[in-house]
Amino acid sequence: MALDSKIPKGPLADKWTQHKSNINLVSPANKRLIDVIVVGTGLAGASASATLAELGYNVKTFCFQDSPRRAHSIAAQGGINAAKNYQGDGDSTYRLFYDTIKGGDYRSREANVHRLAEVSTNIIDQCVAQGVPFARDYGGLLDNRSFGGVLVSRTFYAKGQTGQQLLLGAYSAMNRQIGRGKIKIYNRHEMMDLVLVDRKARGIIARNLVNGKLERHSAHAVVIASGGYGNVFFLSTNAMGSNVSAAWKIHKKGAHFANPCFTQIHPTCIPVSGEHQSKLTLMSESLRNDGRIWVPKKLDDVKAIREGKLKPTEIAEEDRDYYLERRYPAFGNLVPRDVASRAAKERCDEGYGVNKTGEAVYLDFAASIERYGKEQAHVKGLDENDAALVKKLGQDVVRAKYGNLFQMYEKIVDQNPYETPMMIYPAVHYTMGGVWVDYNLMTSIPGCYAIGEANFSDHGANRLGASALMQGLADGYFVLPYTIGDYLAEDIRTGAIDTDLPEFEKAEATVKAQLDAFVKNQGTHTVDYFHKKLGKIMWDKCGMSRNVKGLKEAITEIKALREEFYKNVKVPGTTTEFNPELAKAARVADFLELGELFAKDALERNESCGGHFREESQTPEGEALRDDENFTFVSAWEYKGEPSKAKLHKEQLDYEEIEVKTRSYK
Ligand SMILES: Cc1cc2nc3c(=O)[nH]c(=O)nc-3n(C[C@H](O)[C@H](O)[C@H](O)COP(=O)(O)OP(=O)(O)OC[C@H]3O[C@@H](n4cnc5c(N)ncnc54)[C@H](O)[C@@H]3O)c2cc1C
Repeated sequence: MALDSKIPKGPLADKWTQHKSNINLVSPANKRLIDVIVVGTGLAGASASATLAELGYNVKTFCFQDSPRRAHSIAAQGGINAAKNYQGDGDSTYRLFYDTIKGGDYRSREANVHRLAEVSTNIIDQCVAQGVPFARDYGGLLDNRSFGGVLVSRTFYAKGQTGQQLLLGAYSAMNRQIGRGKIKIYNRHEMMDLVLVDRKARGIIARNLVNGKLERHSAHAVVIASGGYGNVFFLSTNAMGSNVSAAWKIHKKGAHFANPCFTQIHPTCIPVSGEHQSKLTLMSESLRNDGRIWVPKKLDDVKAIREGKLKPTEIAEEDRDYYLERRYPAFGNLVPRDVASRAAKERCDEGYGVNKTGEAVYLDFAASIERYGKEQAHVKGLDENDAALVKKLGQDVVRAKYGNLFQMYEKIVDQNPYETPMMIYPAVHYTMGGVWVDYNLMTSIPGCYAIGEANFSDHGANRLGASALMQGLADGYFVLPYTIGDYLAEDIRTGAIDTDLPEFEKAEATVKAQLDAFVKNQGTHTVDYFHKKLGKIMWDKCGMSRNVKGLKEAITEIKALREEFYKNVKVPGTTTEFNPELAKAARVADFLELGELFAKDALERNESCGGHFREESQTPEGEALRDDENFTFVSAWEYKGEPSKAKLHKEQLDYEEIEVKTRSYK
């Protein structure tokens, strides 16, 4: 079956404009007759809800936290991209488009990415108007910094709290609509299933997490904004509650799942410290603007460091291997995340890791502190040769830029990163894969949409830093609220959808049966026991590098683990009370299915591209080797009863405005 991606015809730069004029629009009066459910109130969901309500639709929002303000989006530290060219360094819509396609290793849809680059500039204006306190330079203008994979400064930021500030902006816009009665919010409610009526998405079954009650909610369209599924690895930088369930439930009801194996492993995270850890912490990529990454050149020095006999600051400059600067002189420490992560793994696999587990490299700010310190001394007319003064002045600059990140590092690791290099190692961070959507962001279920990290979207095989917030807010503020009218125009005479329909009854009964089975099971192991096991299989066999043998083993092992989970999981308590362990069990059940599809997808894609590195497909220098002839497509999987039976549909990717090249950052 050819996938209909609904990309409008015509030159790329005109497509979005042309498309907007082609879609059906619903008049403001008719919008009052239409209900839309939005599952998720992170940046994508909150911005979409506020805008849909502003346009006149009746919106119901759902999130499992006690407030939209607690969505995982608040964790975003580094910033948000936009092609404003405020720095006058040659940025443009085309350049952002080009960097994103190249960064994604030529595995994303050209028209979507161009649209993203076009609307990126509106996002900043929208957020500034909402009062988001973006960082400003000395003259009061909006400031920018650089992120990996680009050679211009286009990242807008609010210290190390960009996601939180953006979410407060979107949440304020939501609150205005809540006040007007246009948005009804259902916090601490988890979507448990999608309800289809005549094959269209017409509602959801939600569980009130406080009292356990199942509820039926109907609408004319359902928007899934439930975030990414990195927690399939158990350990990740995602919020503990991030999960795949809403996306997986719609997959099981007919929505194709695209590129599940495209995962981003972020190079700058605090290394794993032991078996009892349940969460990993990101040190923002913005730190690579000023931090230099290195390991010792000599294995003897590595040994001495691990034994506590040598400090990193005691290693001479000539005995340090700044391996990113050595291997990629053009981009240096600002190579994209996939490249930086693999390079760290390569050094650690060769035995140069600097912590006890051998899985850590240094991120060092000494050179920046000195450079900034000398500059400040010069500006202030002070003695540039006074080492102590220069250090203090330099530390003040670094503190102003990254203070909260340094503080977070010190609290977790108990080392002062102003005095000694940070230790970092790659960790699971983001999922480029997700629900397949067409150009209008509709899934393969009529009336069911997916936005933000939940869709497979615009990042191809690797997302560039600061582009997730851009995409989530583009989807929420500027794309979905307009494209959804194309579908909803058909529904102005439909009237309210009745939740007593048998389709609702059946969906509710299925959810109830699953939850009852969990609490009746009386097994021997906790939910986390299984989740940890799944995470280990995923990290060892579907992690930073993958091969045929490991992937085949992963498929078998995950299937066996799933069977054991249903036999042996123990969920205390009942279904009719606040029971977080029960909520977790339902989420892990879905991870156990997704994990298998993930491995199947990785096995099928016998090429290396972006975050997906197949050992069988590499250059003699160990760089990723893409196979454009055979794999320039999006893998869209159709559910067929269980993950092993999923059917692959290929959406061919055509590049008209961009020349497909081997990605090089050298
Ligand atoms: C540590 C960290 C730092 C990051 N920094 C940056 C950065 O600097 N720049 C950048 O561009 N990106 C960054 N990212 C990525 C970015 O934060 C995310 O991709 C983005 O915030 C996802 O937004 P979202 O709205 O799609 O989903 P989320 O913010 O994850 O929100 C998901 C929502 O769905 C709800 N939900 C989920 N399942 C259900 C269900 N079944 N029922 C009801 N509700 C449900 C949740 O309650 C929540 O409201 C970072 C990611 C991490 C982990």
